[in-house]
Amino acid sequence: MKLLLVAVNAKYIHSNLAVYCLRAYAGKHGFADQVSLAEYTINHSEEDILREIYKEKADVIAFSCYIWNIEIILRLINELKKVQPEAKLWLGGPEVSYDSERRLKLTPGLEGIMIGEGEQTFLELVQHYTLGEPALKKIKGIAYRDNNLIRITEERELLALSDVPFPYVDIKNFKNRIIYYESSRGCPFSCSYCLSSVEKRIRFRDLSLVKQELLFLLEQQVPQVKFVDRTFNCNKEHAMAIWQFIKENDNGITNFHFEISADLLTDDELSFLATLRIAQVQFEIGVQSTNPDTVAAIRRRMDLKLLRKNVDRIRVARNIHQHLDLIAGLPNEDYKTFEQSFHDVYEMKPDQLQLGFLKVLRGSPMEAESKDFGIVYRDNPPYEVLYTRQLSYEELLKLKGICEMVEVYYNSGQFTNAIGYLEHYYPTPMKLYEELAGYYESKHMDMQAHSRIRRYELLLDFFQEKVLRFEAGSDHEPDPRSDRETDRESNFFQDYASDHSKPEKLKLFEEILLMDLFLREDMKSRPPFAMDRIQKNHKNLYDEYRREQILVHIETFQYDIEASVKNGEVMMRESTVIFNYSERDPITKSATLIRR
Ligand code: SF4
Repeated sequence: MKLLLVAVNAKYIHSNLAVYCLRAYAGKHGFADQVSLAEYTINHSEEDILREIYKEKADVIAFSCYIWNIEIILRLINELKKVQPEAKLWLGGPEVSYDSERRLKLTPGLEGIMIGEGEQTFLELVQHYTLGEPALKKIKGIAYRDNNLIRITEERELLALSDVPFPYVDIKNFKNRIIYYESSRGCPFSCSYCLSSVEKRIRFRDLSLVKQELLFLLEQQVPQVKFVDRTFNCNKEHAMAIWQFIKENDNGITNFHFEISADLLTDDELSFLATLRIAQVQFEIGVQSTNPDTVAAIRRRMDLKLLRKNVDRIRVARNIHQHLDLIAGLPNEDYKTFEQSFHDVYEMKPDQLQLGFLKVLRGSPMEAESKDFGIVYRDNPPYEVLYTRQLSYEELLKLKGICEMVEVYYNSGQFTNAIGYLEHYYPTPMKLYEELAGYYESKHMDMQAHSRIRRYELLLDFFQEKVLRFEAGSDHEPDPRSDRETDRESNFFQDYASDHSKPEKLKLFEEILLMDLFLREDMKSRPPFAMDRIQKNHKNLYDEYRREQILVHIETFQYDIEASVKNGEVMMRESTVIFNYSERDPITKSATLIRR
């Protein structure tokens, strides 16, 4: 008897912790030889996945289901049933746990569904298929087909987390992949859009086990360990013990990712965190909205003032990468209040700002409440919001465009100075990204992949079209709040073309882009927009660095980029800047700068 656990991940670097835990748990109870595991990604062709699964010749095949893979899995089930009709096909995971009866009715090829936490349930299924007992009706936490009936068994009680064995004994299979690690299961909070709020009980893995397992991962020098704990720091003692342990056993390589509530951090935790190696740790911090009516409607517990203060303190320490999340489409949030949320989070200067869209997950409290809030969402996974009572589809599409621009021009970290400078021209940061998105759309540049250099060129073109062109037709500062359309008709380009002289602001902006470009990349040649730059001969300086085997680029700038970006004005100051690529900032990945 062979049982196969199948995961279909979103990306190659991901791994599916759930199936590894299920296999390890079955192995601990003597069924290691009967259970195998296969991982694919959503980018594999379904034909290839079908073929590979078929070649395994498993008697029982169980799939791990999430919103990103459920549709592929359902299609695979359909085809597998044709080529391997005798195989027993099972599903498990959050995407099928909350509507198992409906799913079984809709999918005739399915034998059953594991509901909720899977380790013990899967073990009993393995026993059922290999030993003939227990009978399916005796296995808690499943829905299964019994002739023409669908039966749902008693609810499965939760496991002590320390009973689940460490799943990464064979670490060589995880080369170049993220290691997911679980030191706690469940979340004590009640955010209505989140499935973790359904199960209030939180369980912690024994700290001695956690330390032993982390030590193993540190010894293996894995590049990244991502804790999947829903709110890692909800128990201070547990969190501090782990942070202290990774500091004491730092290998100088492994990075640890934690999802935390920043407002729960205490003074001593913050002081301690500031002592960690640069880039040893990164935080994902959910803000979701700063609108009090929205926060109340989703039953989220958050002290915004404290969160802001703590995020700021972490940022000032410059050793931890912070990633802040916002969700669009939540109840009571209209375009204007979302803009305020965006502004509030942007002001916290996160290293990345993740703009997500509400997904009304099956089984979440939000699913039951969505009608009352006037939330309309897609019928199919990922069940993303289409519009709400306060936010139209049109506005949501605008936010999608903004999200794309934030990804490209903010989260990439490749345009820090250019964006910092452009922000001076807009009343709020979101207006800048909104206009950028509108520009991309008007040029049919959205929904296309662009090279990095092309992104710089497009930003330069945007600057000319949306900022300079406006200014040329106006004797006051540009303000996107006013109607620019008439100003765009100005004769700026004719004037500009006739005297062949570039306006100072354009020359400055080109230098700003060049600064951003060289900060990230040791370009072999200058980009097209900087081809005509007259450069001093830096041969002696280059020789100096070459002798030291330090990789540098040397560039003479006419403008004081830092001051211009800070003040939004044209500040002249000739300086020679040395970009040192042998010493990059571990957080931003930018070259360090030496000015002469
Ligand atoms: S969103 Fe985060 S804090 Fe809220 S219930 Fe889910 S896991 Fe817990």
